[in-house]
Formats: sequence, C-alpha cells, structure tokens
Amino acid sequence: MIPLISVKNLKKHFPKRSGFFSHAWTKAVDGISFDIYPGETLGLVGESGCGKTTAGRALLRLIAPTDGAVYFEGKDILQMNTAELRRQRLKMQMIFQDPYSSLNPRMTVGNIVGEALKVHKKATGSDLERRVEEILKKVGLSPSYRSRYPHEFSGGQRQRIGIARALALEPNFIVCDEAVSALDVSIQAEIINLLRKLQAEEKKLAYLFISHDLNVVQHIADRVAVMYLGKIVEMGPAKTLFESPKHPYTQALIAANPIPDPDVAYQPKLLKGEVPSSLNPPSGCHFHTRCPFVMDKCKHFEPPLMENGKHRVWCHSPR
Ligand code: ATP
Repeated sequence: MIPLISVKNLKKHFPKRSGFFSHAWTKAVDGISFDIYPGETLGLVGESGCGKTTAGRALLRLIAPTDGAVYFEGKDILQMNTAELRRQRLKMQMIFQDPYSSLNPRMTVGNIVGEALKVHKKATGSDLERRVEEILKKVGLSPSYRSRYPHEFSGGQRQRIGIARALALEPNFIVCDEAVSALDVSIQAEIINLLRKLQAEEKKLAYLFISHDLNVVQHIADRVAVMYLGKIVEMGPAKTLFESPKHPYTQALIAANPIPDPDVAYQPKLLKGEVPSSLNPPSGCHFHTRCPFVMDKCKHFEPPLMENGKHRVWCHSPR
C-alpha cells in the first residue's frame, strides 16, 4: 500500500540566544521518519518536552521545519508554494488538546463548524446550514445546538465541536494533539470511540494521535512511535510494542504506566531523573543518562536501527 504521509528526517530546531551574538539550538525534533497509511492511526508517545507537539505542527507546516520532507500523497508539502499549501490544508486538520481555549467563545457552534466551508467557498446559504447539521449529527451533537456558544457546553461536548470543525472539509488526515488529555476518563472513552467510528465510516481517514497517556494510545493506535528528546527510539505495531517492548525507554514508560484495573496491585517502576534538556542533549544515545543498561558505546555513538519485520528499535543493546 502507498503511504498517505511519508515523513523523512524531519527536524525542527528553535534558536535560543546563548550570548550577545551567539545562538544555541533547542533540537525539539531531530530527524524523525515514519509513514502513515490510509485508514491507519499512528500513536506518538513520550514524556512531556520530548517533541511530540512540535513534530505534529511541523509536519502540517503550521511551523516551518528546519529540515526534512513530508510527502502527502506523494507531494512534499514543505516545498509547496502558498497557493498549493492552502489547497493541501483542506485535507489535513488538527484537533487540539484544550477544548476550552481552542474554540472562539464569540462564535456560535454553527459558525465554528461552518467557517472553513465558507472561507473555502465549499458551501453557502441553506446548503451550508445542511452541511453543518450533518456534521454535528456525525459527531453526536444535536443540530439544534448550532446557535449556541461554546461556554454552554461540557468539556466532552466542546471536544466534539472541535472534531466537527476538523471534519468540515472532509480531510483524510487529522493530527490529534493530546485530544482527550483534558477530559475525564469516561468522556475520554466516548471521544476515542467517536474518532474510531469516524475512521470506520471514512475508511481512508488517518490519524496521528499524539499523547503522553499510554492507556489511551493503546486503545486507538494501530502502530506506535515512541519519542525521546527529539528522536524516535522505537516504532512498531501497537500490540507488539506494548506486549514486547525492546527499548529500555519504552519498557520504562510501560512499567510506569498505571494499570486501570482495581484488582491489579500497581507497583510503578518510575524512571529515574528528569528528561535532559533538548538544548544540550546527551551525546551518543540520548537516553544513556537514564538507561539502566548503559554501556560505554551508548555514551559516544548514536544507536543503530535494529529491525524485526515492522518492529524497529534504535538501541545498542535492545532487550
Ligand atoms: P508537552 O506534552 O509537554 O507539550 P511535547 O513532547 O509535546 O511536550 P514540545 O512541546 O514539542 O514537546 O517541546 C519540545 C521541546 O521544544 C521543549 O524543550 C520545548 O521547550 C521546546 N519548544 C517548543 N516550542 C518552542 C518554541 N516555540 N520556541 C522554543 N522552544 C520550543
């Protein structure tokens, strides 16, 4: 199958003034590569600050990447001019973490959901109203809500409005950035089920699902990529990765993850230390300062790629 999105060695470095004339660079995303296929959900996980949000924004070109390529249906969106990018954007959307601040409080739900259709001249008048009603129904909201304002809704309903807005132009790719993290656990499940239902209806719809919450990712992702300090350290089918993680960082993340079962005694094995700064990441394998299995070569040499079918791990000594 041909990938919908092919990300090649994507980098985003932010300049940080380190002296009067000099800059240092925060290597938020430092050369990541992956494919996403039509109808697939790729989960992107990792601790806070590892570069997940920057990766999602850079691959949609919401921020300008430093280097790399992002092929969408075969065309590099990083090389597109403004007009081409504008057309491309119709197919690529983003759902944000915070359903409270990502909706304009002065716009009605109908205007929020219909805005993109109007701006891109996809519908007007009664056709626009009909399309908005259809989209609201699709995300489980009553069409009668279209004249209400965001503050009149609960967190879960607001996230449904955010999803409705993202769906308006019938995209085939959506970046969901911590899309359920601000919601109660029961509402999280409802929104995950909604995202899955939409994917089942629109067979080609693909998601990049960014989250620090492994339980959530386990429920939605077909494949998972684990990020640490701007790099992907492990990637593979969700089942394989959760049942048989090979990178010590993935193993530690999974071991630190609370088990949502009252009958299972939970003894977290927490990772020691903080994530080092991406302004000055450790040499060799970035994880070596926290790795329980560190060897001398880990401190000096970048880890090689080890592959077993679709399961990939970048480590000097995978477990
Ligand atoms: P979180 O879940 O906490 O948002 P994350 O994994 O999404 O974390 P990013 O928000 O992508 O991580 O941040 C990665 C690194 O890039 C961090 O060190 C962050 O401080 C830095 N960073 C992000 N945006 C900028 C910016 N606009 N200017 C400078 N540095 C930035």
